[in-house]
Amino acid sequence: MREFDALWIEADKDSGAPLPAKWNKITVDQLSPGDVTVRVTHTTINYKDGLALAGNPAVTRKFPMVPGIDVVGEVLISESDRFKPGDQVILNGYGLGEVHTGAYAQIARLKSEWLLHRPPEISAPRAAAIGTAGYTAMLCVMALERHGITPEHGQIAVTGSSGGVGSVAISLLSKLGYETVAFTGRMEEADFLKSLGATEVLNRSELGGEGKPLGQERWAGGVDVAGSHTLVNLISQTKYGGAVAACGLAQGMDIPGNVMPFILRSVALLGVDSVLVPMPLREQAYRRLVQDLDLAKLDSLSETVKLADVPERAAKILKGQVRGRTIVEVD
Ligand code: NDP
Repeated sequence: MREFDALWIEADKDSGAPLPAKWNKITVDQLSPGDVTVRVTHTTINYKDGLALAGNPAVTRKFPMVPGIDVVGEVLISESDRFKPGDQVILNGYGLGEVHTGAYAQIARLKSEWLLHRPPEISAPRAAAIGTAGYTAMLCVMALERHGITPEHGQIAVTGSSGGVGSVAISLLSKLGYETVAFTGRMEEADFLKSLGATEVLNRSELGGEGKPLGQERWAGGVDVAGSHTLVNLISQTKYGGAVAACGLAQGMDIPGNVMPFILRSVALLGVDSVLVPMPLREQAYRRLVQDLDLAKLDSLSETVKLADVPERAAKILKGQVRGRTIVEVD
């Protein structure tokens, strides 16, 4: 049976905790079961992938594991009626790289009910550039829209804006006509963020500490990747009837706040998950990405690396040293 390269995480025999990922030669029978076998042509590196490669037990929960939460590739073998060899497919989340072997390998064995046909308008490298982070940004924007927030309501604050979710969220919101305020710890990226469409760029330290229970009303809405004080301050500064879409925990997983913005201003906190999103909403998100994501901006916020570069780049993403999105060429 043909061997191929994979990043491989095993558990420590004594503690059961994940060991650091290492390169391994594996065969397809070492992959989790699935009815579609895919040649992985591209993948990406999300914050969560960084956590997995750093040995975070909250991400890697089954062993041995091939990490990597996003697959872009071509079907090699299919036992499903929905897919045939040669089909171009995408998979984001669904426990990939957590409980089902994932993307950092040349071949992946996947479940057909998790797979999307890649829209022809989005090339394979661009689908990797979008990845979980970009598709989550779209889900956040759709959550704000469902709440009835339109560009006329005012500015949208976006945190972690130099990162993956944040940079794609700014690009999407600006194309949709929203004014966006980009919060970042990297003020040197202000010109880059303005090139994506940010109206204003502010230092994230403004939101990072303990704030007032009810701040001055500033935003119609927010997209937050940080959690903790950042999320609480964003909520407390949201205008009457506004909403904050919360998807991340880059600052922390706590919510050290109070109920005043909810009960005095009808502010809504909209939780956004990408992993277990039902297929119809995923398909809708990708239709919206085709329609509303400026591909020139996507290219400008993406950088391409090789599969061999994944461990080094994953360490950088945890230190906040990666700008925008990463395309990983697997072939
Ligand atoms: P990135 O690492 O690409 O971006 C995160 C950004 O957050 C950094 O670039 C930085 O931006 C900012 N940041 C880092 N530390 C802090 C801090 N202490 N306080 C405030 N901001 C900080 O990650 P992703 O965009 O891939 O993911 C962002 C978050 O969203 C992660 O927590 C991730 O786990 C979560 N996520 C959740 C998903 C879901 O399904 N709910 C799906 C995808 C992501 P800057 O330098 O501009 O300040």
